[in-house]
Amino acid sequence: MRPEYVLGLRCTVCGTFFEDFEALFTCPHCGEKGILDVEYDYLKIKGHFDKMSLSRNRDYTIWRYLPLLPLLGKPKQPLLKVGYTPLYEVKRLGEAYHQQNLFLKDDGVNPTGSLKDRASILAVAKAIEAGKDTICCSSTGNAASSLAGNAAKVGLKTLIFVPERAPKGKLAQLMIYGANLVIVKGDYKAAFNMSKAAIDQYGFYNRNAAINPYLVEGKKTVALEICEQTNFESIDWVIVSVGDGCTIAGVYKGFYDMKSLGMISKIPRILGVQADGCKPLLEAFVSNSDLKESDENTLADSIAVGIPRNPKKALKAVYESKGSYISVTDDEILEAMRILGRTEGVFAEPASGASVAGFIKAKQRGLLADGDRVVIIHTGNGLKDIQSGLKAVTLPEAVDPDTTQLKTIVERMN
Ligand SMILES: *Cc1c(COP(=O)(O)O)cnc(C)c1O
Ligand SMILES: [Zn+2]
Repeated sequence: MRPEYVLGLRCTVCGTFFEDFEALFTCPHCGEKGILDVEYDYLKIKGHFDKMSLSRNRDYTIWRYLPLLPLLGKPKQPLLKVGYTPLYEVKRLGEAYHQQNLFLKDDGVNPTGSLKDRASILAVAKAIEAGKDTICCSSTGNAASSLAGNAAKVGLKTLIFVPERAPKGKLAQLMIYGANLVIVKGDYKAAFNMSKAAIDQYGFYNRNAAINPYLVEGKKTVALEICEQTNFESIDWVIVSVGDGCTIAGVYKGFYDMKSLGMISKIPRILGVQADGCKPLLEAFVSNSDLKESDENTLADSIAVGIPRNPKKALKAVYESKGSYISVTDDEILEAMRILGRTEGVFAEPASGASVAGFIKAKQRGLLADGDRVVIIHTGNGLKDIQSGLKAVTLPEAVDPDTTQLKTIVERMN
């Protein structure tokens, strides 16, 4: 059955349109590279969904955007509360870099601590629709822990493959949520291939974000919320870090939906941020050529993706929005994590610090004008990766409980 407002799926490579699509994940003509995109009947949606209906809607989760989601309905089971995260005006950070209108979308407060919850809850809902009892994925960490949490809430089983380097906080989450966890000796590519084989052989529901076309639709709700939370006023730039490319694709899709519905007047320029040690999409963008595999050499584990699985949509987001790609070093990421924490009280994991570092660098390079309205997307909570957090700072030595030391302590305060 096709959801009411969905027209079908279109292949991003050969353009074939599929009306009857429930069993499809990728295009049968193009194979795994034939990533599909969900198309909506915007005309029909307009009759049921507008600024007025949104302003009356009391459901402050991603389900407020149900007409724009590829589902038959909201699942009946109680779910984790995903989405409608705060959009902060970050004045102190803005002042430090002469950015007058700077906002931070705090997706670190999602139930499992990252933006990935937006995709995972869609995976859970689609798996329920498909009558599956087990969901499988590979992940650098957040997609995995997020899937495990959202699946646990509705009693679905998970089989999850992560690379050995996945941060301990994310592994702890996985085990606490009761996932069947496989730690693969190797990198993300190795974990991805294992999950693919498991899905092919056992028919588990597939939560690999690029291959499953519905997950980007979950991720796009971050952009839908940004539109609503900025009163549908125009935004000049949105900054987001990029690994597989599904998040940036979702960000573009959300703004595209809003523009197609006439709810915003322009799609913001999108700035994709990659790590210096792993920037295959930036390189493809700059050289206007095919993607080349890259090393995965950065402490920002969530964006350490040597072969991005969603390159077409990730590049399209930037081309079509007249945005850009930029890369940042690990030191710049650690610095950005400190700056964000000190100025705004927000603790970011490295991949999320990368977005802030990307903002700082773009500003220094003159890409952003002082008066531009800019939104940085904070994608993951720093508590997930304490080891990296500690790399960004120096812990003080323990002192004797001797009050005569207080004078020196107070003199040293910053
Ligand atoms: C997954 C992730 C990203 C990047 O998303 P992709 O879809 O892989 O490009 C950025 N930040 C965090 C915290 C993530 O978990
Ligand atoms: Zn195709």
